[in-house]
Amino acid sequence: MPAFPQLFTSTVSHWQKTNRGPTSLWSHGRDASLPTEVVDYVIIGAGATGASLAYQLSQPGAADGKSIVLLDAKDVASCASGRNGGHVLPRAWAMFPTFMSPLEKGGSSLNAEQVLDIIFFEQDNLDLIERIVKSEGLDVDFWRGHRYEVFNTPQSAADNMRNFELLQRLIARSPKYRHRKVDWMVITDPAEAKRVSRVHDAVACNRIPSGSWHPHRAVTALLRLALKSTAANVQFFSWAPVAGISNANGRVSVDCESRGVITARQVIVATNAYTRHLLPETQDLLVPRLAQAGRVVPPASFSGAQALSNTYTVREGPYLIQTPYAGLVFGPYPNMDPPDQVYNIEDDSITTPSVRAWLQSWCRDNFVDWGQESAGEGLAEHWSGE
Ligand SMILES: Cc1cc2nc3c(=O)[nH]c(=O)nc-3n(C[C@H](O)[C@H](O)[C@H](O)COP(=O)(O)OP(=O)(O)OC[C@H]3O[C@@H](n4cnc5c(N)ncnc54)[C@H](O)[C@@H]3O)c2cc1C
Repeated sequence: MPAFPQLFTSTVSHWQKTNRGPTSLWSHGRDASLPTEVVDYVIIGAGATGASLAYQLSQPGAADGKSIVLLDAKDVASCASGRNGGHVLPRAWAMFPTFMSPLEKGGSSLNAEQVLDIIFFEQDNLDLIERIVKSEGLDVDFWRGHRYEVFNTPQSAADNMRNFELLQRLIARSPKYRHRKVDWMVITDPAEAKRVSRVHDAVACNRIPSGSWHPHRAVTALLRLALKSTAANVQFFSWAPVAGISNANGRVSVDCESRGVITARQVIVATNAYTRHLLPETQDLLVPRLAQAGRVVPPASFSGAQALSNTYTVREGPYLIQTPYAGLVFGPYPNMDPPDQVYNIEDDSITTPSVRAWLQSWCRDNFVDWGQESAGEGLAEHWSGE
């Protein structure tokens, strides 16, 4: 894998294609000189993590009077943040087995209180996103409603019920969470599960608060707000790949090769799958993984008044959202490719044929009355990320 600048040419996602207007920050600061004075914070990576951190630091009372420099090797939201499924999905009890099983079995070895912390953190995060979108008046196609988590075998429906009951017991016992109101429902009648979800082999489904948005516009909007802040001085330089960071005398040098070196009091690394190139000590902890998303143009039977009115996760299947204008966007699919084509892959120019074929048939095979029409079996486009 090449370090930045990458040698491969990334696929261009639906989100990246549909946010290219004058306010979209493409190439922002690309030709500007980097600061030569010492700055308070350098954030490396302008995805959702880096841009939302810049936004939070730029709020009055957070880092007043401080200088904040955001650097990205490419453009804002050019990696996973602009190439994902657009689903804002707090998880619920489905993650219990993974969270609580031991590390050596591929789980997270968490105790009950830690699992509840994660579940309620994610619920709170949906509320926070909604508050920011509303209070800042962001035009990012934010939708809030419910997600159907669909189970299509008796065994998975029974496991789901067991996990749900476990969650209820844990909450009842938790001094921290037992007073929390939740908006969760389990539909156990197969006919009702099929009717509400429109998935023909649904045996049961959960109804859980969820959201969706245009992730590229969302990340860009947060960064635009940060750049406008009068509380802190935020600057963003795209196409400023960082080749290395080093500490000396309480300062950090951020080496942007031909663009120069920035000296900072603190550096925050928000580089996701690429972190091992900057911090080799994370090599064994963070493994890049190729994931792919796609957009499907629905037939008339799933358009207009018949369009889906919820987001979805389907057990052993994908997750998906209904966008306001552009049909359905599917998040990462179950992996059908051998591990060596999935793990340790940073090349986001790759889309795999197996996933493409799967996407073509999934809606037709799973949704009631999807029909046979729609261009190329509904496949509109397909992109990858990591
Ligand atoms: C196909 C797919 C579907 C997904 N679907 C969803 C979903 O529906 N909902 C959800 O919540 N999550 C989803 N995710 C996960 C989500 O997209 C990521 O968790 C999130 O975007 C990570 O944000 P980030 O800012 O940490 O990383 P990234 O968006 O990857 O940003 C890292 C940034 O760091 C920059 N960078 C890296 N190295 C350097 C360097 N040396 N110098 C300068 N800059 C550097 C990169 O250019 C990049 O812009 C999906 C992910 C994928 C791939």
